[in-house]
Amino acid sequence: MNQALAQILTRTKRIMLRIQCPYCGERDHTEFQYGGDATVQRPALDDTSIDAWYSYVFERTNPRGVHQEYWQHTAGCRAWLVVTRDTATHRIDAVTSVRERATHRNDSVENAVELGEVHR
Ligand SMILES: [Zn+2]
Repeated sequence: MNQALAQILTRTKRIMLRIQCPYCGERDHTEFQYGGDATVQRPALDDTSIDAWYSYVFERTNPRGVHQEYWQHTAGCRAWLVVTRDTATHRIDAVTSVRERATHRNDSVENAVELGEVHR
């Protein structure tokens, strides 16, 4: 292996995210698709405030540090996951399925989809 290829592989390894899918095990992030900010809450369906809906649709923070994100295991089980990741270091602290999160919140996955917490 030549030196340039070795350097590329070393750099790639450094930035490669490994996500622990609760169903499939640890996989490269290339098997997943980013699904958005998992902290955004959809306004109530009867909320007619244009500001609330504008904020929900368009406004996102770009936090530096620990953040919750939706990821879908598109090349695997296709499950939606909530990944708690440090955006500065890419360290992943926790991965839970959206189904499990909805269960803990005494909610259903269907409600999570309806509420816009999971984008299809
Ligand atoms: Zn999976």
